[in-house]
Amino acid sequence: MTTGSDTHGGAPKKALVSACLLGRDCTYKAGNNRDSVLLEELQRRGYKAVPFCPEEHGGLPTPRPAADLTASAREVLAGRGRVLTHGGEDVTAEFLAGAQGAVRQCQAEGIQLAFLKERSPSCGCAATHVDGALVEGPGVTAQALRDAGVECEGVEGRR
Ligand code: SF4
Repeated sequence: MTTGSDTHGGAPKKALVSACLLGRDCTYKAGNNRDSVLLEELQRRGYKAVPFCPEEHGGLPTPRPAADLTASAREVLAGRGRVLTHGGEDVTAEFLAGAQGAVRQCQAEGIQLAFLKERSPSCGCAATHVDGALVEGPGVTAQALRDAGVECEGVEGRR
């Protein structure tokens, strides 16, 4: 995580945070990745957390089948890749809707920083899942947020 002053004029700045990191049971298994270290860090730095789950926002149920990208997130966003469940169902539209929702939320609330669950096909920042393998590169939402100018920091979760 970056350091330094994260408040302006005493008003807390907002950060978008993967909802599962805040304890919401929204993972594909209907569990969470609550991260107490992140919660302390947000408080210390004066951030108000804005919870967001792109996959639920995009209309997917919880629990839901695990899904992988068929290409990089950049390719998915450009319409040249898809997101498929392990059963072969195409959930690209839901993933794109979730990513677009995250961008809209940040724009509406003036959010410039996001803390996102690492390795998720939506929220992963340094790594995500493509065709059943863990590969370097962001998930669909992290890529869309970065393209919109929002800084994204990956968080392991469950600390
Ligand atoms: S990693 Fe992202 S998409 Fe997955 S449950 Fe957490 S907030 Fe939702």
